[in-house]
Amino acid sequence: MEKKAQGKIVIVSGPSGAGKTTVLARLLEKCGQSLELSISATTRLPRPGEIPGKNYFFLSPEEFQKRKENDDFLEAFEVFGKGYWYGTLKSEVSKHLDLGKSVLLEIDVAGMQEVIQKFPNAITIFISPGTLEELEYRLRNRGTETEQSIQRRLEVARREMELSNRYQHIVVNKTIEGSVEQLLGILKNLGILKNLDNSKNKEKVGTDEE
Ligand code: 5GP
Repeated sequence: MEKKAQGKIVIVSGPSGAGKTTVLARLLEKCGQSLELSISATTRLPRPGEIPGKNYFFLSPEEFQKRKENDDFLEAFEVFGKGYWYGTLKSEVSKHLDLGKSVLLEIDVAGMQEVIQKFPNAITIFISPGTLEELEYRLRNRGTETEQSIQRRLEVARREMELSNRYQHIVVNKTIEGSVEQLLGILKNLGILKNLDNSKNKEKVGTDEE
């Protein structure tokens, strides 16, 4: 009997505002069912347009702590040091891996280091905004952050970018399509996309080429 393909964990980090979320949404569209997103839990409030259970599981600090005590997280960190917790639920990862699918974790550097302790074969990719100046421009353009939040994110980004050499792959996000193509190339080389449903992929590529 044929052995079911083993899914892999793909960790993607990068400063927020680097365009990472948009790039990963496109990547997931193109990958179809061979790569599934792990939805993280967080104690921060939803931004306008964010949907609970799709972007994050938005938990109260008490609920988050309870799940932490319950050992429900593969990793959990207070990402900005200001009281907001983010964590990868074990159930989100195992439900995909158990089906032989690869799973994408969009987490910070500390989370990456924790996950590779437990899954040394995880693939690590850093999406860089290029320069801090470019990142600052994007964060301001987004218009969703307070000045204090922008300054904090820039400081976190500076620290994260210093640690980007701990990742196996670095993608500099110049254009969304360019970054998606680079990511697809990395995943194909690693054999993660070999079960890609080509008909579905072609359809998606067609609609993406605006
Ligand atoms: P945002 O608040 O902009 O959605 O995310 C802020 C940061 O939290 C991002 O850098 C993102 O990578 C990180 N993050 C999101 N989910 C998780 C998670 O489950 N674990 C960890 N460690 N970091 C996360």
